[in-house]
Amino acid sequence: MPPKSTPDILRFRRRLLAWYRRHGRDLPWRRTRDPYRIVVSEFMLQQTQVSRVELFYHRFLAEYPSIEDLARARPAQVRESWEGLGYYRRAANLHQLAKTVVREHDGLVPDDPEVLRELPGVGRYTATAVASFAYERPVATVDTNIARVIRRAFHPRRKPDPSDKVVWATAERLVPRRGSTAWAFNQGIMELGATVCTAREARCQICPVRSVCKTGTATA
Ligand code: SF4
Repeated sequence: MPPKSTPDILRFRRRLLAWYRRHGRDLPWRRTRDPYRIVVSEFMLQQTQVSRVELFYHRFLAEYPSIEDLARARPAQVRESWEGLGYYRRAANLHQLAKTVVREHDGLVPDDPEVLRELPGVGRYTATAVASFAYERPVATVDTNIARVIRRAFHPRRKPDPSDKVVWATAERLVPRRGSTAWAFNQGIMELGATVCTAREARCQICPVRSVCKTGTATA
């Protein structure tokens, strides 16, 4: 069951947002709301560490400054530009996405998650992440890091699964209704999962949401 009490939700949000304002990393894709740049970062971040993506992000965007530039490129050229990041299927999907957006959406990345999901290589997570991070739409998003935090905090008995409907339902209750605050909340919960509540270790002693976390309070 999703968390019932509104006070718990409000406390979780408040604590997470305050922590993120102080501890969130300054990453290049957090400084922009350009939808094309956000899409590129999201494709690169699938299955690749932040530090590695940082090395490739600027180089790729220097080569393809706009979605039209990427759409025009030859597949072999895009693959070559992706060299070092691996999982080339992502490069092929990103290239197809650019072509589709130019052909069917006048070069504008859609802001509606349902429309985004129809694009190549875009699942529920990427669609909602782009809607939130590029357009500040107040939507919940759940990747592996976010799913882990929500599971440990609210559903400690559930098995790891980022497509878990219960976890998504809780994310939807947690996300603030104001778009810019939802942006910070989604970045914050992802950051917590990447740096504090990690797969290897739950560092509950330094966690800002410990007092509202079922796992954290059980180990206190
Ligand atoms: S208190 Fe521990 S288990 Fe709960 S979210 Fe924080 S680090 Fe994760």
